[in-house]
Amino acid sequence: MPELPEVETIVQGLRPYIFKRKISHLKIFLPKIIHTKKVSPNHLIGTTIENISRLGKNIIFQLSNECHLRVHLKMTGQLLIKFPEEDFQKHTHAIFSFDGERFKLNYRDIRKFGFIQIFSAEEWEKWPKESPLGPDPLEVTFSFFEEKIIKQKRMIKSVLLDQTFLAGLGNIYVDEILYHSKIHPQSLPINLSSNAVQELYQTMVKVLKTAILLRGSTIRDYLGISGEAGNYQSKHQVYGRVNAPCHKCGTLIRKIKVAGRGTCFCPTCQKLEQGRRQADPL
Ligand SMILES: [Zn+2]
Repeated sequence: MPELPEVETIVQGLRPYIFKRKISHLKIFLPKIIHTKKVSPNHLIGTTIENISRLGKNIIFQLSNECHLRVHLKMTGQLLIKFPEEDFQKHTHAIFSFDGERFKLNYRDIRKFGFIQIFSAEEWEKWPKESPLGPDPLEVTFSFFEEKIIKQKRMIKSVLLDQTFLAGLGNIYVDEILYHSKIHPQSLPINLSSNAVQELYQTMVKVLKTAILLRGSTIRDYLGISGEAGNYQSKHQVYGRVNAPCHKCGTLIRKIKVAGRGTCFCPTCQKLEQGRRQADPL
């Protein structure tokens, strides 16, 4: 599933193509991927895309008629810029055309869990209350992060995956962030020293920024808007490396289940912290 770095890469890639472009046509092949209560998809025709942004793992299009589109790619969704000379791809479920442009924006999804949700202005205003998302991991301050995380009574992996805690992290990046922070995925936040929490915060920012620079991770289906793969998967230290030796200590990477998700970690580099949180020695 695309996580923050992949979704950010898509948003950055889309901007030069569709910012301030007017939607001239929308072809929908699979109606169930369009989620709407009040606004007919026909109302999108003739509107201009005023902004494209990211909220957690959601791609948001702000339209000139005050409607908003939320695209969630879920497992295998893709937004692709396609030119007429390119072949039509199977599993393309919706195609946006733009005034005076040769390219089209295709929504493609093999497993069909993703969707495009249309909000009226009124529905958009209510959405944050109905689906509260936590702050963005790249925008949250350290003091806010520390204050919030030490109150959590769940395992650290479960906390970081929770989109109401922070929006945008998923299984790949949580495993990688915990490895680089030397924190066992089953640790309880209360048992982490303040140095460990600080390292976790700094590592989270560093891993995400590096992954964005490398245009995300392609494991199975993720592709950028021109169909290009990401490059961060070559930097993975634990995710997808079960039974391979840890690059730091040679111990074989183990896989366990935490928060219902397959979790890869190094049993030597990521020791389970015991005991209650104590003040760090000066
Ligand atoms: Zn190790």
